[in-house]
Amino acid sequence: MLTNHHTHSLFSDGSSQPEDYIWEAIAKGFDILGFTEHSPLPFENTFSFKENNREEYMALMSALKLKYSGQIAVYSGMEADYVPGMSENFSKLKRDYSLDFMIGSVHLVRANDNSELWFTDGPDYRTYDKGLNELFGGDIRKAVTAYFRQTHEMIESQQFDILGHFDKIKMHNQGRFFQEDEPWYQSLISETLFLVQDRDIIVEVNTRGIYKQRSDTTYPGLDILKQIRQMHIPVMVNSDAHKTHELDGEFEYGYSQLKAAGIDEVVYFKGNGWGFHRV
Ligand SMILES: [Zn+2]
Ligand SMILES: [Zn+2]
Repeated sequence: MLTNHHTHSLFSDGSSQPEDYIWEAIAKGFDILGFTEHSPLPFENTFSFKENNREEYMALMSALKLKYSGQIAVYSGMEADYVPGMSENFSKLKRDYSLDFMIGSVHLVRANDNSELWFTDGPDYRTYDKGLNELFGGDIRKAVTAYFRQTHEMIESQQFDILGHFDKIKMHNQGRFFQEDEPWYQSLISETLFLVQDRDIIVEVNTRGIYKQRSDTTYPGLDILKQIRQMHIPVMVNSDAHKTHELDGEFEYGYSQLKAAGIDEVVYFKGNGWGFHRV
């Protein structure tokens, strides 16, 4: 079974119409394709869904689900951004957009005593470094802790199904500021895993960093996947595609990491809940 539950189209920061991804997915033999635009945010930006397009998008999703039923299961999800005090409640988004499932992600970290946001996820490491210096005084431990605290707050306060790119905060680190085996970092990872386990949240193995050549590992990588296996946390492999050819980007590598961690089943959306299939 071939699935991708994390896809961005022109309705957020992807490059093509939703139907183009469906054609590509059918050609590649996918069984399931889930669209997950970035949720609307209350400030100007280039990446999130624009609320004016809601009706058009919902009508299009319904039409596409119907048109391709029997060929591929199309689902309408959302990658909801959690920014304390700014982002919309996830359950409200799910209702308002008639969504099938939700990914919860942190891209913008709010510094404690500051309303400015640290954009951790852009293509340019200089944006990351600038936020680190200006908002956290260059203290990487403080900054990374804020990222995971915000993730914890999201898990505890919002309803969602899949945790998006668990440790993407490491993307622009590249060994420059910290090592992933440092005890303070490891304890943030463990704390996050315990919360995920407690709330029955699925962890995606996100391959985007590999095919964009911004990371040597998936988000999360093998060490965390081994812990995930021990804790029996459900996983799925997602490409986080922004272009049609990225739909199965580095899937072979993603599944090889699962295998190396001893994980032999993944979760998929089956229309009215979640099922498992062996890999
Ligand atoms: Zn994301
Ligand atoms: Zn995404």
